Amino acid sequence: MANSVKIRMTGVNSRMRLSGWGRYPYVEASVLAPRDADSTAQILKNGEGPRMIPRGAGRSYGDSALAARVLSSRYLDDFISLDRRALTIRCGAGTTLAEILRVCVPQGLFLPVLSGTKTVTIGGAIAADIHGKNHHVDGSFCDHIERFTLLLPSGETAVCSPTENKEYFQATCGGMGLTGMILDATISLKKVPSAFISAQSIPAANLEESLALLRQHNDEQYVVAWVDCLAKASALGRGVIHLGSHSETGKLEHRSKRKLSVPFTTPGFLLNRYTMGGFNQLYYARHRFKKSVNSVYYDDYFFPLDSLKGWNRLYGSEGFLQYQFVLPDDAAESGLRETLETVSRSGKGSFLAVLKRFGPANANWLSFPSEGVTLTLDFKYEPDLLPLLDRLDEIVLAAGGRHYLAKDARMSAAVFRQGYPNWHQFKALKDRIDPAGTLGSLQSDRLGLTQAAMRSSQR
Ligand SMILES: Cc1cc2nc3c(=O)[nH]c(=O)nc-3n(C[C@H](O)[C@H](O)[C@H](O)COP(=O)(O)OP(=O)(O)OC[C@H]3O[C@@H](n4cnc5c(N)ncnc54)[C@H](O)[C@@H]3O)c2cc1C
Repeated sequence: MANSVKIRMTGVNSRMRLSGWGRYPYVEASVLAPRDADSTAQILKNGEGPRMIPRGAGRSYGDSALAARVLSSRYLDDFISLDRRALTIRCGAGTTLAEILRVCVPQGLFLPVLSGTKTVTIGGAIAADIHGKNHHVDGSFCDHIERFTLLLPSGETAVCSPTENKEYFQATCGGMGLTGMILDATISLKKVPSAFISAQSIPAANLEESLALLRQHNDEQYVVAWVDCLAKASALGRGVIHLGSHSETGKLEHRSKRKLSVPFTTPGFLLNRYTMGGFNQLYYARHRFKKSVNSVYYDDYFFPLDSLKGWNRLYGSEGFLQYQFVLPDDAAESGLRETLETVSRSGKGSFLAVLKRFGPANANWLSFPSEGVTLTLDFKYEPDLLPLLDRLDEIVLAAGGRHYLAKDARMSAAVFRQGYPNWHQFKALKDRIDPAGTLGSLQSDRLGLTQAAMRSSQR
């Protein structure tokens, strides 16, 4: 019966040059964009052609959503149900956080975990088990998933939850699309009194103070710090801590915003230690002498980068890499100091250097967050960047840390395995449910979770 289903697709085999958000690396790929779940299943059952990887909005930075063929969730974007009593929403995996917020906020409902961009899809949010500014109190995205429907590489479906098909659930949450295509999900919502956030900013003179403030405000709902990663000596690690909580006052409203956009790729040389140093100086000076308190529309608070469309082009035609890691609390200060000193000495600064505290890890096999402190850095791609990142890997591993797969474009299999001790459990399940190697990405080959050669030899 299933074999007679007509595959309805848009953009079948449209060939494209594709990358992640960092625009490094690029591949030539065929994009399959099936219209519905049956057609998606049919593609997997068909089993012919080069292997593929699910793709949402392409907001992961590196190569996790890149392969010779990508299976887009673009048309799996139905709103299925909103249950105001149970406080849940069920929608297709291609629905974005922005689309859900547009419906929910005017009704006083809110997503429990948000990333720094609202353009990501639900499938991508589950596959990376994304975290927000509130991980220390609320955990990560998959801690709020009631269930999802997973289309396995065989083309069969499985409903997965923390109690049903538990091992599929634990492997898929954070599993970077390797266990199958998520078709739809039911997500818990929370009630909010307004669309506004009471936001407070506090300056910190150095790393010790930044970490002390993060610890001191660990009970606040949203906590994040911006760090000047070019500051040196006694100012190393200086920054601004941003706190937030849902405001009791203000309307429950949706505001559509005008976006500025970067019309073309800017020459990479515009971003150098001097321009970045100047930006960091100005940012710090703005907050240096005062604690400030404001009421901010939630969109401006959570997604400031979304108001500049295409900001990833600012890094030039070679693209950029984002580097995010977490260190356990007992090694955090020394590990961060060594990392920041190494970056500061290299002169390769970053506009975005973000520090956050994580609460305890969940039970998902490849989810990134674990208790401690996480730092995120952006680096323009240059040939001598990769050796610097290899050096940072050594520091992170020596301090007992690990790296975020959604940001990665170059980590070695050895570094991955040391950071994710459950990798072998994941690989055993992957080999069992996908013996023909139907699903795989550039990243999964590099990390030793799949083998590109295996698929081509079986065709
Ligand atoms: C400006 C910016 C800010 C960000 N801030 C944060 C942050 O604060 N916290 C955080 O955790 N992350 C953050 N991210 C990273 C982002 O949230 C993740 O990379 C997320 O996975 C991207 O979702 P996507 O829909 O774009 O997925 P893609 O980038 O298209 O895919 C990411 C992974 O998900 C898999 N996938 C996608 N759809 C499906 C599906 N339907 N079924 C199975 N697998 C699927 C892909 O195979 C791939 O492995 C940020 C990214 C940007 C660009």
